[in-house]
Amino acid sequence: MSRPELPAAGGCRSAPVLKERGQREVFCGLTGIVWLHRKMQDAFFLVVGSRTCAHLLQSAAGVMIFAEPRFGTAILEEADLAGMADAQDELDREVERLLSRRPDIRQLFLVGSCPSEVIKLDLSKAAERLSARHAPRVRVLNYSGSGIETTFTEGEDACLAAMVPVLPETQERELLVVGALPDVVEDQMLSLLSGLGIGPVRLLPARNIDAETAVGPNTAYALAQPFLGETHEALARRGARHIPAPFPYGEEGTTAWLAAIATEFGVSPERFAEVTEAPRARARKAVAAAAETLAGKSLFFFPDSQMEIPLARFLSRECGMEPLEVAQPYIRDALHGPDLDLLPQGPRIAEGQDVDRQLDRARADRPDLTVCGLGLANPLEAEGLATKWAIELVFTPVHFYEQAGDLAALFARPIRRKQALRLEAAE
Ligand code: SF4
Repeated sequence: MSRPELPAAGGCRSAPVLKERGQREVFCGLTGIVWLHRKMQDAFFLVVGSRTCAHLLQSAAGVMIFAEPRFGTAILEEADLAGMADAQDELDREVERLLSRRPDIRQLFLVGSCPSEVIKLDLSKAAERLSARHAPRVRVLNYSGSGIETTFTEGEDACLAAMVPVLPETQERELLVVGALPDVVEDQMLSLLSGLGIGPVRLLPARNIDAETAVGPNTAYALAQPFLGETHEALARRGARHIPAPFPYGEEGTTAWLAAIATEFGVSPERFAEVTEAPRARARKAVAAAAETLAGKSLFFFPDSQMEIPLARFLSRECGMEPLEVAQPYIRDALHGPDLDLLPQGPRIAEGQDVDRQLDRARADRPDLTVCGLGLANPLEAEGLATKWAIELVFTPVHFYEQAGDLAALFARPIRRKQALRLEAAE
């Protein structure tokens, strides 16, 4: 089995962590609905929020809707916010209207927002009541996507964590892969796992509620996304066992992720090599093309997608970049330890955000590439820094071997653009 070598000087797992608790510049967890509604084809996401929440969803996702959408907003009017109206009754009526119009809906998520948090509208009670009323046709669950509580990828974590307690129980020995992946990437992953002879493989989230996703003491689960801390804990509470591994970004990350699963399921090293050799070679070649632009360039991560540590590992080890600061909203040893082990010592590791202090550090460092949220990208570009929007990394297929070259290219593009602009200016 091919395991990545630890860096000669040791990794960053025990490096000191700069803990910051100040103002944050990130999208809220409602953003996750944009990719979750495409993945779960019989689900509907009803945001219980304000017109601001509706606008966020419309502008983030509205342009991508061709059929009847699988999300909407139950607007809390000012009267509700002042506690004048019975918001619970109004919510029940809204759900009745929706479900009678849409027999295709099998899972309904009531998604909390800042306004529903502020007036303390109890959505878990509403979900229980509505589930009892509409079972077995529709399962109603709730989670919070409020910007008060969540960064943008935590919306998916909260959604999946809400599903875990209601998954059926199983005693079967199964692999559960956790985290929403684009269908094309999911199919590639399933084909690799099937080539290794690993199965049955279940998925969370599954494409629909009838899929055989279940959990129990013989379930071993692998996380496909690094932002699923709550889901990880919920699965552990159901008795399932986590397979710790670096995340499957790049050739090395994908190989290490597959190797951890292969070891768990007793796959022979010969079979592992046979299945992975050709895609590994393809991935290495594709990454090498983009790495020509990236090698030797410095890199600064603002905390945003929670993919920062595994991406820093990929960009430093496979693309030759030099991370100066790697900041992530949360760092959990069980999830991020394997990537920290492989991240060569040197960068500042930070958890959380105090945006002004961090901007000062970025300005002092003058990195060749800064990965940050949309709100920070424009001002930093105006100061002459090349930036990459963190949110793009979530909307673009980036996992596993066949996407490794595209992932490296996403980071190479802003650097190339900046070089081209410089040349133009010099002419
Ligand atoms: S949940 Fe909060 S942060 Fe998100 S769109 Fe609604 S009001 Fe804005």
